[in-house]
Amino acid sequence: MIAEILGVGTELLLGDIANTNAQFLSKALAGLGISVYGHTAVGDNPGRLRAALEYGFGKADMVVACGGLGPTMDDITKEVAAKYFGREMFVDQPSWEAIQQRFAGRHLPENVIRNATVPEGSILFPNHHGSAPGVCIEQDGKILILLPGPPHELEPMFMKYAVPFLRQKTDKVFVSRTLKIVGVGESNVETMLQDLIDNQTNPTVAPYAKLTEVALRITAAAPCEDAANALITPIAEEIYSRLGQHIYGEDNDCMAEIILNKLEGQTLAIAESCTGGLLTSALVDIPGSSKVLSEGVITYSNEAKLTRLGVVLTDHGAVSSQTAAAMAEGVARTSGAGIGISTTGIAGPDGGTADKPVGLVYIGLYINGKTLTKELRLIGDRNEIRARAVVAALDFLRLNI
Ligand code: ATP
Ligand code: MG
Repeated sequence: MIAEILGVGTELLLGDIANTNAQFLSKALAGLGISVYGHTAVGDNPGRLRAALEYGFGKADMVVACGGLGPTMDDITKEVAAKYFGREMFVDQPSWEAIQQRFAGRHLPENVIRNATVPEGSILFPNHHGSAPGVCIEQDGKILILLPGPPHELEPMFMKYAVPFLRQKTDKVFVSRTLKIVGVGESNVETMLQDLIDNQTNPTVAPYAKLTEVALRITAAAPCEDAANALITPIAEEIYSRLGQHIYGEDNDCMAEIILNKLEGQTLAIAESCTGGLLTSALVDIPGSSKVLSEGVITYSNEAKLTRLGVVLTDHGAVSSQTAAAMAEGVARTSGAGIGISTTGIAGPDGGTADKPVGLVYIGLYINGKTLTKELRLIGDRNEIRARAVVAALDFLRLNI
């Protein structure tokens, strides 16, 4: 089955709101094995809305529209849909009663009855978080689903009522597994997996570059979830054998959380220069981090590195593996933690030299009585370099625990 998603609302076209419903619906439909061929957005205008329905049904079996089910005069989606399918509008009594109950004790504006006014012969999806029910019209092999605009109404309604309805219409599910990769760029990942990416149709393998990592999504279509997973597993195993340690987790895994779990029973202290607290913050984001993290300090100036950590700068300068090492050792020693990690680097845009260009960052790690360092040559603007340095530091820690 092929679907088109149609956002209705002039505020979408003016840029006042982002079409997050289209994103939600795309994901949900993909999970049902329904291919989404396009997204359209149209204003609250009857002629253009009708044209959008014609356009959608020109290429898809199903149009899922959202927005404009409400009571005001600019909420025209149901009327236009009724005309499109040659149906009359009527007041659905159960919906009207549900709305009256919702308003119990409060003044009911006159136009609210429009919420319960729907095209005849529709399947209605109750709205447990608002007034307007969803509307589903099936005619001549076409399916039109109309959903309310507010995401907190649309999402539960879609999951509770549209999903079971659509499950009956399709005979397959799509299942995805995402492998999360650090320390190799997107093009290198693609080169290492070229044959898998080129030759696969089911499952498909697709890399997505993010700011600090690459996500590799494996997607399979099959009659049921187990069968889809059976298609995914051998490909995932092959990818693990090629990328090894670069894969730090899957799906919703989070690197900071993985590290904290691995470090349980140990203590970690952090000394940051160019990352200015971001590394500590990445760990503090995880509930329960206090079991491992004892302290994070930002020693930005040379003086702070000396007075707080006892780091005496050498001829190598503040941005050097020697300084990174001394910072990691210093923060572990002065805080009493078993492990110390540090960052020092040049985030730019100024301060780079031929010798030490912008993006040069050193990570120091004091662990198990040994001190390790890593040199990074990062690209990007100031904040990208800082974000990449944080992930590289976490990854260095992950690989050396
Ligand atoms: P209401 O009964 O609240 O008027 P409605 O079904 O008529 O609901 P709209 O009037 O089109 O929906 O939109 C109401 C609100 O829902 C918008 O102001 C916006 O906050 C949100 N919304 C609408 N469409 C979208 C969309 N495509 N993505 C995300 N949010 C949306
Ligand atoms: Mg509205």
